Amino acid sequence: MTEKVFYQDSYQKTLGSEVVEVLDNGVILAATIFYPLGGGQPGDTGRLTINTRDYRVVDTRYADNRHNIVHILEDDDLSAIQVDDKVDMEIDWQRRHRLMRMHTSMHLVCSLISAQATGGAVGETESRLDFDLQGEVVDKEQLTTDLNALIDKAIPVTIGAITDAELDQKPELVRTMSVQPPRGHGTVRTITIENTDYQPCGGTHVRNTAEIGELVVTGLKNKGRQNKRISLALVEP
Ligand SMILES: [Zn+2]
Repeated sequence: MTEKVFYQDSYQKTLGSEVVEVLDNGVILAATIFYPLGGGQPGDTGRLTINTRDYRVVDTRYADNRHNIVHILEDDDLSAIQVDDKVDMEIDWQRRHRLMRMHTSMHLVCSLISAQATGGAVGETESRLDFDLQGEVVDKEQLTTDLNALIDKAIPVTIGAITDAELDQKPELVRTMSVQPPRGHGTVRTITIENTDYQPCGGTHVRNTAEIGELVVTGLKNKGRQNKRISLALVEP
């Protein structure tokens, strides 16, 4: 099982660890700060240094068992890498920080719309959330104003946990139907934006909404009869 350092500290940019397994297209490490694709958030990119050689990480994914994390490397020839080799790693921090700002923005959108989200994708500069609005009216300009008001309030964002049993009793906490939190570990990680939004989420987030900076709702499109797609972007990338 890869130790997921990003779960507790989303701000760690470098880490030392060891190689646990070498695959055809990448490596599994004992611990990592690289976030794997999931929950609508893309996998991290960055660099691994192994035996003084640099390897470019082009994507990060869960292994089939979901316990291990695979750092997908650009190099075709990984024959120089051995199990137990020491690794120094560094994530592409500018990209990750944008993804953190965007992911926290998506939770702010959820706090302003009561309808169920049916899907979503966090992007580096633009993100989208689909809602089954059931007649709820959303105005693009008003949503932009309300989102920026929440950002200006500089609200703290904290990481917590809920037990599987508690979550089973409060299914309404899961705001996105397409992103079900992983059960079976006893607890599920939660993200709280103080007095604003609370939901199970494994993604990486900023510590305070002020870090997001100005947002703009760029699109409000019909996606099918009920569904509306809300797109938003960072004004200062
Ligand atoms: Zn989330």
